[in-house]
Amino acid sequence: MKLKDKICIITGAARGIGEGVAKRFVAEGARVAIADLNLETAEKTAARLSAMGPGTAIGVAMDVTSETAVNEGVARVVKEWGGVDVLFANAGIQIVHKIEDFPFSDWKKLLAIHLDGSFLTSKACIPHMYGNNGGAIIFMGSVHSKEASPLKSAYVTAKHGLLGLARVISKEGAAHGVRANVICPGFVKTPLVEKQIPEQAKELGISEKEVVEKIMLGETVDQEFTTIEDVAEVALLFASFPTNALTGQSLVVSHGWFME
Ligand code: NAD
Repeated sequence: MKLKDKICIITGAARGIGEGVAKRFVAEGARVAIADLNLETAEKTAARLSAMGPGTAIGVAMDVTSETAVNEGVARVVKEWGGVDVLFANAGIQIVHKIEDFPFSDWKKLLAIHLDGSFLTSKACIPHMYGNNGGAIIFMGSVHSKEASPLKSAYVTAKHGLLGLARVISKEGAAHGVRANVICPGFVKTPLVEKQIPEQAKELGISEKEVVEKIMLGETVDQEFTTIEDVAEVALLFASFPTNALTGQSLVVSHGWFME
């Protein structure tokens, strides 16, 4: 088992990709905190994963945009298990509008979840990693960390920003064995993406079929969605990689949509 007894916090893990990564980590023997907005939902996901084992999971209430909520959530995990080895800052939302129509409040809301959330959770976890065998910080980027699409000004800006944050943490954390990397998936069929299909069809004046075939999968090598399992495999690599050789990096998993 690659993560036996490792203490992991995954934000936005009550469902979607975060849940899938949590499931994989529990299968590798980890202790995983499912940190999400609603405690009851987080606890339900945690109970489901714990029943699968061999690792275990707990639910933790956490709005990643609130410094108090983040600090309390991380403190709860440290009290329960004694430290933090892995942080996967995954919580995220999508809001699409043309720039000229983009409500400033939506811009700020999206940036707060992706950027403030990644900063605040890193800030809260890093002191528990320094002086304690180091740790792995993983940010949930996207192909949109490298590429742009119409209607996604806030999302593309936020996902590009995470590359910079990971690089700084890599430089500051190296002497303490703390590594930071970014996963950049293509489209994965989760509630976040299901929601975008009719929204984009409306904004762009095309059919939902065209949104999937042209906008989402048009540039892939095989017209296939990336899967939650694909993302979990990369998360496991970043979480378990043993040295500073792999830090400050970003890995695109997108069926060739973006190649570098
Ligand atoms: P999802 O909507 O299925 O799940 C997101 C989770 O984040 C939910 O459980 C939600 O409650 C939680 N969340 C939202 N706001 C929060 C907050 N303020 N504090 C704590 N939790 C919060 O989405 P998903 O598709 O699983 O996306 C997860 C991450 O992956 C996001 O960062 C997203 O940008 C990124 N991503 C998704 C895709 C995709 O195609 N689905 C592709 C690339 C990157």
